[in-house]
Amino acid sequence: MASYKDLHNRVFKKIQKIQREVKRKRLALPIEKYSVYDYPTIVVACGYIKKKKIFVERSGKPINVTWGDDIKSRLSELKLIGPLCDNPIGACAEPKAANKVKNKFPKCKMNELQFSDPYRPRTRKRKKYCKNCKYTFSEVL
Ligand SMILES: [Zn+2]
Repeated sequence: MASYKDLHNRVFKKIQKIQREVKRKRLALPIEKYSVYDYPTIVVACGYIKKKKIFVERSGKPINVTWGDDIKSRLSELKLIGPLCDNPIGACAEPKAANKVKNKFPKCKMNELQFSDPYRPRTRKRKKYCKNCKYTFSEVL
């Protein structure tokens, strides 16, 4: 089991990496204006309570993501009832991170996922889980 602190540390490692990437990009293209879109909106870490491995993901349109059955059915339910907040369904960091956990550990159940708090890399501020994510991961969020 990864501790809450492990999950938190992984998120901050990722934030540092993203900030280095943005800085490198800015140095390479000094004429381009700084944009908040240089950063993903949110990063979050997710693990399986029975293992130490942690996955960190960023928000954004899911590209080349094959959803596992549990998450896929929750996202489909959400599509049917309509999104519960402004975030596009499936574009949050949480389902993408959880999907990686469940792909790696197919026995991991929805109630065995553990999440870090979501953070905004641009400001390093802690954010709240959105309503779509609270619905998708109602067992743990
Ligand atoms: Zn969300």
